[in-house]
Amino acid sequence: MKYMSMTKRWFLTVASMLSVVLIAVSFLVYALVRNYYYGAARMTVEAMNSGEINSIFSLYGASTSGFEDAARSYVENFQSKDKLAVWVINSKGKVIVSSNGFSISDDVTMPDYSDALNSPSGTSRWTGRLPSGEKIMAYTCTYHYNNGDFGGAIRYMVSMDAIDAQLRTVAVLITSVFVIVLGFLIISSTLFLRSITNPVRKIGEAARRIAGGDFKANIDSYPYNDEIGELCNIINDMADQLGETERLKNDFISTVSHELRTPLTAIRGWGETLQQIGDSDPETTRRGMEIIISEATRLNDMVEELLDFSRMSSGRMKLNSERIDYLAELDEVVFSFKERSIREGIEINYNVPTFPAPGNGDPARIKQVFINVLDNAMKYTEQGGKISVSAELPSPAELTVTVTDTGCGIAPEDLPHIKEKFYKANNTVRGSGIGLAVCDEIMNLHGGRLDIDSIYGQGTTVRLIFPLENAASQENENE
Ligand code: ADP
Repeated sequence: MKYMSMTKRWFLTVASMLSVVLIAVSFLVYALVRNYYYGAARMTVEAMNSGEINSIFSLYGASTSGFEDAARSYVENFQSKDKLAVWVINSKGKVIVSSNGFSISDDVTMPDYSDALNSPSGTSRWTGRLPSGEKIMAYTCTYHYNNGDFGGAIRYMVSMDAIDAQLRTVAVLITSVFVIVLGFLIISSTLFLRSITNPVRKIGEAARRIAGGDFKANIDSYPYNDEIGELCNIINDMADQLGETERLKNDFISTVSHELRTPLTAIRGWGETLQQIGDSDPETTRRGMEIIISEATRLNDMVEELLDFSRMSSGRMKLNSERIDYLAELDEVVFSFKERSIREGIEINYNVPTFPAPGNGDPARIKQVFINVLDNAMKYTEQGGKISVSAELPSPAELTVTVTDTGCGIAPEDLPHIKEKFYKANNTVRGSGIGLAVCDEIMNLHGGRLDIDSIYGQGTTVRLIFPLENAASQENENE
């Protein structure tokens, strides 16, 4: 779709619609005002009642001179002279008296007079221009004597020039209001739109830089705490988090490279030594072979851990579940650590009562969790320290295995992140920072949980909670 800025779209839709509405309203207001003024003029010319006509025609109609006098006296004493002009027209259609300076000539056209003659009501109104160019509204009332003879007519006229001048002022006023309102709308909306589009443009630029790998890109100087402010904060947080993940990933690569290099160096060194000494020193050869095998095993474990991590990240980690006894697996793992604990001078207190802890699980994965947790406890505990392993059933459906050590502990600020991938709170000890992330995933896949508590400088407690197959189903199976 073709790019179109929000401002342009606003102008094409809202602004144009608003203009149409404003123009319509302006016309409506003008029409109402015009109607009002013309209506007022109409009421003024039509206000003359038939009594006044009677007063001229009925009394004096018989004699021409009497009629002319009566007409003159009527016109002279006419009350509304300042507003209206009044003409008296005799039975021959000739204007005999006029209240103002309207020229009374034979050629003056009086459409209202002609219409009134034919109209059943005997009256008619006309709006038009005099030959002088002045615009008037005229109203003619005809009079018939009782015997039916046509008596004449009175024509009232009001000048419309003043009204039209006023209407022109009203039109200018309405147009000015229209322009001011539209201008105000356009300016305020442009400013408002700009307050949205400018930060959105900045957000776009920052997002583009973040997508390009610049995680330091930050959106600042947005002064309001609103939806856009929130979006800016989210983008800033996202950039920070991506930056942190990038940093952890780089640390991870260098740690893993280092971890891989150490056993490889040992293997290579011992290989070269064995090559040099040949069969001359069987004791050194035996020791060398042992180290090569143990370092190769370590390498293998690391590669397995990395493969697990990759499986976990892509959601491909699968369990080969079967009926197992969690405590039997724990037993085996703790036993396998005996030799190492003696070698490293760390005491392992294994205090697990003998009760069945059956469940559905992958024995290799469960062992992997125990190994990882015990390996951490050993790694982060100094010589002379203690590790205690215990188990309990807080409920018949749950087993808790607790591994507590008296090691270095974890700082409170690191504790919430400890299960995140690549996160290492302690860089002085070997490790890739993915062990606990993998363990956590394995525990989740088993419907269990891995909790860690720690007091920095005093030690760490890892709690592994497993769901057990409930006692009722066990009994059923035993039957
Ligand atoms: P690593 O391979 O680095 O040990 P883990 O994922 O197993 O990675 O552990 C993550 C981090 O948690 C470790 O780097 C360490 O700082 C901390 N940690 C885990 N277990 C313990 C423990 N028992 N005592 C102290 N720190 C621990």
